[in-house]
Amino acid sequence: MPKPTSDIPILEDRKAQVHTKGAAPFKLACEKHSVAGAVSQRACVFCGSRVVLYPIADALHLIHGPVGCAAYTWDIRGAASSGPQLHRMSFSTDLREKDVIYGGENKCEAALVELIGRYQPKAAFVYATCIVGLIGDDLDAVCRRAGERTGVDVIPVHSEGFAGSKKDGYSAACRAIDALVGTSPEPKPGLGAPPSINILGDFNIAGETWVIRDYYERMGIDVIATITGDGRVDDIRRAHHAQLNVVQCSGSMKGLARLMKEKYDIPFTHVSYFGLEDMSRALYEVADHFNDPDMKARTAALVRDEIGAVMPELRKYRDALAGKRAAVYTGGAFKAFSLVRSLRTLGVKTVIAGSQTGSPQDYQKLEALCDEGAVLLDDTNPLELAKFIDQTGADLLIGGVKERPIAYKLGVAFCDHNHERKECLAGYAGMVNFAREVHHSVCSPVWRLTPRGCRTAAPDASPPVRPLRRAAVRRPAPRPALRTTPLTIGAKEVAV
Ligand code: SF4
Repeated sequence: MPKPTSDIPILEDRKAQVHTKGAAPFKLACEKHSVAGAVSQRACVFCGSRVVLYPIADALHLIHGPVGCAAYTWDIRGAASSGPQLHRMSFSTDLREKDVIYGGENKCEAALVELIGRYQPKAAFVYATCIVGLIGDDLDAVCRRAGERTGVDVIPVHSEGFAGSKKDGYSAACRAIDALVGTSPEPKPGLGAPPSINILGDFNIAGETWVIRDYYERMGIDVIATITGDGRVDDIRRAHHAQLNVVQCSGSMKGLARLMKEKYDIPFTHVSYFGLEDMSRALYEVADHFNDPDMKARTAALVRDEIGAVMPELRKYRDALAGKRAAVYTGGAFKAFSLVRSLRTLGVKTVIAGSQTGSPQDYQKLEALCDEGAVLLDDTNPLELAKFIDQTGADLLIGGVKERPIAYKLGVAFCDHNHERKECLAGYAGMVNFAREVHHSVCSPVWRLTPRGCRTAAPDASPPVRPLRRAAVRRPAPRPALRTTPLTIGAKEVAV
């Protein structure tokens, strides 16, 4: 007879990366390589770079590697664009046995020249995959030659899949973006220019960057660049003109914010746009930074109006969801903080919380946020998730595309909060969408028909909630293109 899921043993090498709140002392190992054979939910370095750079809509993205790497990350984000759609095309050099033996540099250069001629992008990013790292193609030299032949900036992204974790891919993407920042010929705005920011780390999933940008503009702030959601190469070139970098997401854009602080002395602040508390805190923090009384008053009015508009709908969902339990597993831990708070707003208790790339500080904060008995997991795997979902009686799993089948196999509700989703979950309108998604999944009668539901469920007495209006996201008009001079990236000379 098969063992119950809750009896699945944890691998010896993984035990330090699992902690139950209340079991003192708090110590959770993290920032380690994944344990071989543990079937980590983490993505590779290349995937990390690809998801960060993908939303730059007027750039060409060429994946130098086997076609499988391109297929794995094709249209990987639900990142919308208000103009060009070039980012949604997936180009690959399709490396094969012959290229592995003789090298893939010529093929890559020929592909770049052909694609740039055909699509006229503002810049091109070329991603190194595992095999490029193994055969030793000189990507810097290839990009330099292609740039000289076409007059377009061709930027290498050193994202060999095996060379770390998804977090290292974020760093490689930040270095690639940094090659563009500061290359605009436009002069810096003088004294008297309006307060300005860059939005970093929002990827315009289902139009979220538009929602956030609209809030800042209503506060009287000029948004110079959105990096990378609905991103444009020319905006990134002049991003060094901003007075503040507002960084969402714990891992992906911190590196770029630090580089811009070092090079251009632009301060940065960390925010989250998920949930009423964190969304409001983000706006107030930015208003406090500029310390303008009028802006502070506009911000307070905006927050009051937006919360007032969504609370009646949220209360209905809260009544239906009160007492439910959730498991949260995210890429970065920063999003997990917001999710724990948002679930609390809905009356849902978080019983499992974890991330792929959290730091020791992140997990300390997560432990403080969660209730007694919550299980914290770093770089977990499907068997551990299944075990703890069973053990804690979680009604809901919030994660991404790789966690979805785990939930459905267990007969547990699921909410996609990862970059593949097509639903706007940021901002005040996004909180209503989130509540609706959670409600519709958790309160679906289908779970009563699963083996788990048959074992445990009394008929769900949750009061029905009338279908509510989907919070709309407005697509802005295309922005006029800026005129810029081409840049030559100074790649280092390497002996071939
Ligand atoms: S870069 Fe390597 S690990 Fe990543 S998808 Fe390609 S082959 Fe797989």
